[in-house]
Amino acid sequence: MRTQLAACYQPGRLGLSFELFPPRTAKGDESLFEHVADLMQFSPDFLTCTYGAGGSTRNKTLEIVEQVKDRFKAPVASHLTVVGGSIEELRDYLQEAGDRGVDYIVALRGDPPKGETEFRQAPGGLRYANELVDLIRSEYDHFGVAVAGYPEVHQEAESAEVDLLNLKRKVESGADVVITQLFYDNADFWRFREQYQQAGITVPLVPGILPVTNLAQIQRITALCGAQLPESFVARLNEHPTDDDWQFQVGVEFAVQQVQELIDGGAPGIHFYVLNKSQATSAVLQTVRRTAM
Ligand code: FAD
Repeated sequence: MRTQLAACYQPGRLGLSFELFPPRTAKGDESLFEHVADLMQFSPDFLTCTYGAGGSTRNKTLEIVEQVKDRFKAPVASHLTVVGGSIEELRDYLQEAGDRGVDYIVALRGDPPKGETEFRQAPGGLRYANELVDLIRSEYDHFGVAVAGYPEVHQEAESAEVDLLNLKRKVESGADVVITQLFYDNADFWRFREQYQQAGITVPLVPGILPVTNLAQIQRITALCGAQLPESFVARLNEHPTDDDWQFQVGVEFAVQQVQELIDGGAPGIHFYVLNKSQATSAVLQTVRRTAM
């Protein structure tokens, strides 16, 4: 039976999810599980783990989601990209994910592997995320499926309109929810939500939030994904560029305001990019009022 991912976002409740990435060392694993233990106080609806460029973290992604599910008894989602894998390899992954208890798939095209600038379809592989959603719906329909949306428009899209039509295609293929790329100006989210609704897309649109804890780090991340940082926010972080406590406090204050506005404005849930550290996300969740509108 298909797992009901959309049910996490029913009216009147705020769906909550946390995104992790696969650590590179055993020490990193232990630290991750300590941070997840801290985050469990907020009773997330599910936790997700990213899938590295070109399938580089294939086994590790599955290992992390399986362990999170075993240790914390929470539903889990594996991200999966089509980069570098044939359809057969994608099938193997989906089969194994199901066997290992994964509940949901975050179905993605993925970015080109390091050192490459353009996405190239793998031999015998897929081209776009909507094709992966098609594969899941036709052969592994028990998974709930999330896909990615872009309030500031995907970097390769020829226009916002075309990007939205491509997003609609993913939803029509059978995605249950859309989780957005990180963004820092809620006006981008409201504009995107309006266009999304006008395009007739009705599945929950969940903002993806990354609380800033360090300016240099967030500038690297936003340069890669094309998100904009408001100038006034950067200026405030820059008042004490080497003071870690300052950076953390200013980042959390900003995220509290951003998340509160999103909740008050009717966002059906929040997906936190926690980057394997619980402190900033915990500080935000301890402060915001989480009653969904
Ligand atoms: P698609 O939806 O396939 O879109 C890619 C581009 O092609 C867009 O410009 C779109 O407009 C266009 N397009 C889409 N469909 C069609 C079509 N049928 N015909 C013509 N054009 C089309 N990356 C990772 O490597 N690992 C991860 O774990 C990961 N997790 C992520 C989680 C979230 C919530 C988000 C928002 C992003 C994540 N990413 C991850 C990044 C993502 O892989 C990149 O943003 C990637 O460049 C696009 O992936 P997509 O699934 O949105 O692609």
